[in-house]
Parts: sequence; C-alpha cells; structure tokens
Amino acid sequence: MPFCFGHYFKPNHFYMRQTCGGCRVPVTRDMVLNDLSGDIAINRKNDTGMKNHTLEYCPGCGHKTFLPNSDKSYRCSACGFLLYRNAVAAVAAIIECQHKILLTIRANDPDAGKLDLPGGFVDNGETAEAAMERELAEEIGFRPPSLTYFGSYPNTYPYAGVVYKTLDLIFTCPLEALPDLQPDDDVSDLVWVSTRAIPFERIAFDSLRKALADYSVHHRCNPAGTIAR
Ligand SMILES: [Zn+2]
Repeated sequence: MPFCFGHYFKPNHFYMRQTCGGCRVPVTRDMVLNDLSGDIAINRKNDTGMKNHTLEYCPGCGHKTFLPNSDKSYRCSACGFLLYRNAVAAVAAIIECQHKILLTIRANDPDAGKLDLPGGFVDNGETAEAAMERELAEEIGFRPPSLTYFGSYPNTYPYAGVVYKTLDLIFTCPLEALPDLQPDDDVSDLVWVSTRAIPFERIAFDSLRKALADYSVHHRCNPAGTIAR
C-alpha cells in the first residue's frame, strides 16, 4: 500500500515527490494515477489526431520563407522577421465540497462530452484571478468565496486546426455547503465526483489529470480535506 490514509502529509524538498510525515512512505502523482485508474492510456488524440496548421508565409514580407526557428518561434529566412508562440495562460478551479469535486462536461470540441474543470483562457490584460472569477460566473453561475493558487500545469489544446501550448493555472476553492450552480457557456452539464474516485480516464486534458492527481495526493494523506502544502 503506497499511500498513507491516516498520517498528516508533509511535502519534502520537491513537491512532486512527497513523503507522508508519519510513516515516511513516498507518495507521487504517478502512483495516484496508476492506483485509481488502473492501466489507463492517457489520451494522446489531441497531440496527434488533428492537423496542426503551420505558419508558412512571412507576415513581414509575404514570402513563403517562414520556417520554425525553435519549438516556440518562427523566423523568415528572407527578411529575418521573428515570431514567438509562447504558452497561452489558462485557469481552472478545483471546487471541493463534502469530499466531492465538481467536474463539468464539455459541450464543445476539443473533447466534447469529456469531463473538465470549470475554467478557460485568460484574456489579454486580465489577471489570472479575474479570469478565474469570470470563467466561474460564465460557465456555472458561481461567485467563489475564496480562491487559492494550487499550481501550474502545461497542456496542449488543439482548436480549429491550430495546436496551442497552454499553461493551466489551477486554483482551489473549498466549500462547506453545496452551491446552486447552473451550467452555461461551453459547459453542457455538471457532476460531483468523490475525491477518492476521480474518473481520470474520462477527463479531457493531461494537465487537469495531473492537477487532480496532485490534489488527490494531498487529500489522501489528510482526509480532513485541508490541503497541507
Ligand atoms: Zn519575411
């Protein structure tokens, strides 16, 4: 049994590999994913199943001389025009209430019908906190009493023939009473799942699977529900 259910959980020097403060058993995110979901094959469809349109024509001189310069930039071999495509910021919330976590069902592609966390992209000039509050209002009609930053998780998001690299910023929001929520925007429905039975194989994105697995590690070693970090 790799997990401690009773001891208080204390992170050691590196938070992705942690040790139970009581029995010193190391607990890792991969252990949680393997333990809770068996031999799930992480869905790589998003990485390979869609044509990724590439930039070919230089926005500076118009010639078909615009070539990848690195994994995050293009450069025109004719005029030297340089364009960076860095990660796009996105936010998502882990809302927990009575040992259950709120998941949304995606109304739209990519991965329509799969499970998700409420959230979305950060607008230009917007803070992550404001984006999180806006997305919660838009998607589930919810005004969070508090938001606590949890961690950041890189992701790949294919949309309309373009594969975007994102950095998903995860917030947590513990609640004592179940809120009245209404699915809206790009959410078709809502489900509450047990923190001990998160259906990782039905969750849309690799970043959110990892975030929820990390969250689950914390929850398992501190069943009272408080995150020890
Ligand atoms: Zn050019």
